[in-house]
Order: sequence, then C-alpha cells, then structure tokens
Amino acid sequence: MKNAPILKALLEETIAECDHLARRDHDPVGRVWEYENDDDREVAALFASSLAYGQVKVLRNAIVQALAPLGPHPAHTLRVTPLEDLVTRWPAFTYRMTRGEDLADLAVALGITLRREGSLQALYRARIPHDTDRPEDAGTLARAHHLQAASHFVQTLRQRRHRRELTRGFRYLLPDPADGSTCKRLHLFFRWMSRGPDGIDLGLWPSLAPHALVMPLDTHTSRLCRYLGLLSRKSLDARAAVEVSERLAALDPEDPLKYDFALCHLGIGRRCIHRRSEDHCPGCPIEDACTL
Ligand code: SF4
Repeated sequence: MKNAPILKALLEETIAECDHLARRDHDPVGRVWEYENDDDREVAALFASSLAYGQVKVLRNAIVQALAPLGPHPAHTLRVTPLEDLVTRWPAFTYRMTRGEDLADLAVALGITLRREGSLQALYRARIPHDTDRPEDAGTLARAHHLQAASHFVQTLRQRRHRRELTRGFRYLLPDPADGSTCKRLHLFFRWMSRGPDGIDLGLWPSLAPHALVMPLDTHTSRLCRYLGLLSRKSLDARAAVEVSERLAALDPEDPLKYDFALCHLGIGRRCIHRRSEDHCPGCPIEDACTL
C-alpha cells in the first residue's frame, strides 16, 4: 500500500483514542469477561460471539438470556449435565434468527466436546499443522491453515448437534468458513481466543497465533475499510475478509487485527455515520485517510 506508514499512524491513533474498557460495556465481549474461570469464558465466548448480530444493546441482553440456563459455571454445567437435560433449558428463547432449539444444539455439541477433548481449544488444535510457528508460515500460509482448522472445528460441532436435521438456524448460529461468507461472528470468537489478554480479547488459546487471524468483517468495519483503501473487493464475503486481513498484516504482520476493535467501535459508537458530516468528521482519527 502506497500510504501504509500514514495509515498505520492514523490507525494507531484510533486505538489510542478508543477507551477500550469503557467500550467493553457496549460490546458482546463484556458479557464474557463477567465469568472468572478460563474454561467458562471459553464456552461463554462461543455463545456470545454466535449471538453477536443486531443492535448491541439487544444482543447483549440475548447473550445474558442464552447463558443464564447454564448457571455461573457454564463449562462445568455442560460437562456434567446429561445431554437430554441440556436440550430442555431454552424453552422460550428467541432472538431474531436464533431459537432455543439452536442453543440446545450448540449446548449438546459443546457438552460432547468438553467431555471428549476437554476444551474447545483442544478440538481446534487437533487440525492445526505443527509447523505454523515457523517464520516462513507467518501470514498467508498461517491464515490458510487457520481457516482449514476453523472449518473442521465448525463441522465437528455441527455433527455433534442434538437434532437430526442441520437446520438453517443452527447453520446461521455456527457458520462454516468453507461456505464462503465472512463468518464475522466466528472470526470474532477466534480473535477473542487468540489476542490478549488486554481487557478486550481474552488470550486463552496459545495454539492460535494473532498473525493467523482473519478479520471479523461486518457492515461497520467493511465500510471503514473501504474508506481507508483496505478493501477493494465488491462482495462482502470470505475473500473480502482475507483481503482486509492481508492489508492490515502489511501494517502489522504480527498482530494485524489489533485495529479491529477500535475501527468497529467508530461505527458502533456512532462516531462515523457513513457520510461526511460537519458534526462527526472533524477530529475523526482517520479523517486524513478517509476517501468518503
Ligand atoms: S472522516 Fe467522517 S466519514 Fe470518514 S471515517 Fe471519519 S467519521 Fe466516517
């Protein structure tokens, strides 16, 4: 990228200007930090990220309702509760595309996984080639390995669902990167597991290096990335997410997604309203690089 040093400086300023801990209360990850134990945070993170669509205030309430039936220690509950009892715990849950039966499918899949592999990371790690920490694996190859492992992770969880049929609702809740969509919520989960701990991301999976991550691209971040020249692809799909990841890796090869939270919250916090505005643009940390 021609203007990479300028863009990098502006994005660093965006991070510096973002009050991360204050914004955590307006982000789905805030619900995950309410749990103390790492194994509870891991399963709470998959529930929370899977429901991270729609308005933030509403989705944060949906996450609370989704996790409440699992009690204060969701990982323990999923490990020890008979699977036939787990499926009855969300009789009235509904949140946009997601129904209680979809959460029951997810709970059974996680219950089986925690009993068989011990953790979600162990399921993911089983498909990561052992050589991904070689320097030459950094970047593109590591991302390709990660996407393969992520797809296997999802396909295994889908196979372990409760219902015989793989429903549209469960496929939406747990999308497969191999299907070609951005899989924003799934990549958000992986970001939480890999980066940090820094008060936002949880840093629970040493097996997933930050340089392998794929951008959790949504409407907020994709628009901002277009304004900044980080995204040229017209379709908002899996290849667009990889394009942004590679361009951010040109700015920081070790940790390309460190800019994601601050960029996303420029949109969530109504700082950017996606048109030029005398009220919003002056003082915007990326104004000098914004092409809108
Ligand atoms: S300069 Fe204005 S339009 Fe561009 S990103 Fe900032 S707030 Fe949005």
